[in-house]
Amino acid sequence: MPGFKKLKVAVVGCGTGGPAAATLLARHGHEVVLFERASECRAVGAGFLLQPSGMATLCELGIYEQVRACGARVERLHVVDEHENDFLDLYYAELGDDLFGLGLHRPVLLHYLIEAMDTAGVEVRWGWEVGEAVRESKGWRVESESGEIEDGFDLLIVADGARSTLRAKLGFRGTDRGYPWGAHWFIGKNGGTLPEGELFQMVKGTKRLLGFLPTGREIDGVDPLVSLFWSIKLSDDDVIRSRPLDEWKRSILELCPRADFLLSQIDDWSQVLTARYGDVGMNHWHDEGVVVIGDAGHAMSPQLGQGVNLALADASCLARNLAEYPLNQALVRYSKDRRWPLAYYRLASSQLTPWFQSDMEWLTPFRSVFFRATQRLPPARKFMTKTMAGLVGFRRL
Ligand SMILES: Cc1cc2nc3c(=O)[nH]c(=O)nc-3n(C[C@H](O)[C@H](O)[C@H](O)COP(=O)(O)OP(=O)(O)OC[C@H]3O[C@@H](n4cnc5c(N)ncnc54)[C@H](O)[C@@H]3O)c2cc1C
Repeated sequence: MPGFKKLKVAVVGCGTGGPAAATLLARHGHEVVLFERASECRAVGAGFLLQPSGMATLCELGIYEQVRACGARVERLHVVDEHENDFLDLYYAELGDDLFGLGLHRPVLLHYLIEAMDTAGVEVRWGWEVGEAVRESKGWRVESESGEIEDGFDLLIVADGARSTLRAKLGFRGTDRGYPWGAHWFIGKNGGTLPEGELFQMVKGTKRLLGFLPTGREIDGVDPLVSLFWSIKLSDDDVIRSRPLDEWKRSILELCPRADFLLSQIDDWSQVLTARYGDVGMNHWHDEGVVVIGDAGHAMSPQLGQGVNLALADASCLARNLAEYPLNQALVRYSKDRRWPLAYYRLASSQLTPWFQSDMEWLTPFRSVFFRATQRLPPARKFMTKTMAGLVGFRRL
């Protein structure tokens, strides 16, 4: 590695991109401080699907084996219509025998990311909500909402998630739109009633989407878990929740009676989480001494399940460029390297969303024809599988 100046780096946000970038940079000898507003390690939310692209960064971080041991191996994306007729059926193995997805419980990934940060010597300030970041002659000064100050940072990494407040405060331009559709989530025991080894989804028109993602197990757990997601229009959320839980369960069971065992584990609305998502678009992700990574720079709908993977790939790309170039040149290279994959996934995700979550029911027959036809064409099928695996624009393949 060329002998560039060792940097003092401030990272804002301990989700996925923040701790991954902090660890890789600390390993390269930089002095890294990470600021997180939560007072302790706290990952909430549904299970997610780690793709081969994301696994590559976990290998770089040296935590792949531990994470893998808690995950559920997912071989296939299997989507059927309300009559259980196949609609989309893609296998990772079509890209290579050793490729698969890994269904994970969110706290598992965060646990091992934090462990890696600690080992790498990153200083973590829990309960530190960054309210302001100002560039001064001696570097970045960050100020917490409660008035604490730390300064002298050569590089500021903004990884504060889809609802980033720093992005706009720092003058970055871009779009930031919430989607009208979201999902109800629940994680429970599979009990052998739902398919293991595949992300299984059922669709009915464009308003009904039900998915089951094998989610592995908790760090100290033994039971295989599964995440249920059920598409909803966010404006209906309060009304749905004001009605009896059984009514909600019935609408899911009408589409998939096999969900009975999973739903029997829910006896209160508080066990069901509402996920909202949005679309953040930026053309470049850096300015002098500052870079925006992860959802803060490119949040998108989870149709393609790429958010965690893209945040991990961002961290890897940033660390690689900082190892090869001086600071400001490395940031220019970072934006250049990330432009194409991020533009592709953002476009694909936004184009796909109305086909699966919208009021545009008239799209349904076109969707059937499109997916059934394209997956029969070998080059199109391969490209769809590569998209699913997070490998379009992926540098190391
Ligand atoms: C319903 C749903 C399903 C999804 N499914 C998948 C999937 O299957 N696969 C996938 O890859 N992705 C999925 N995603 C996306 C994925 O969750 C995100 O893309 C990923 O978590 C982004 O990581 P991040 O580090 O950029 O941000 P986040 O994980 O959001 O972390 C941001 C962190 O910054 C902290 N923070 C915020 N503001 C401040 C501040 N001012 N000061 C200090 N700290 C701050 C927050 O507390 C948080 O810890 C899904 C998302 C949703 C909503």
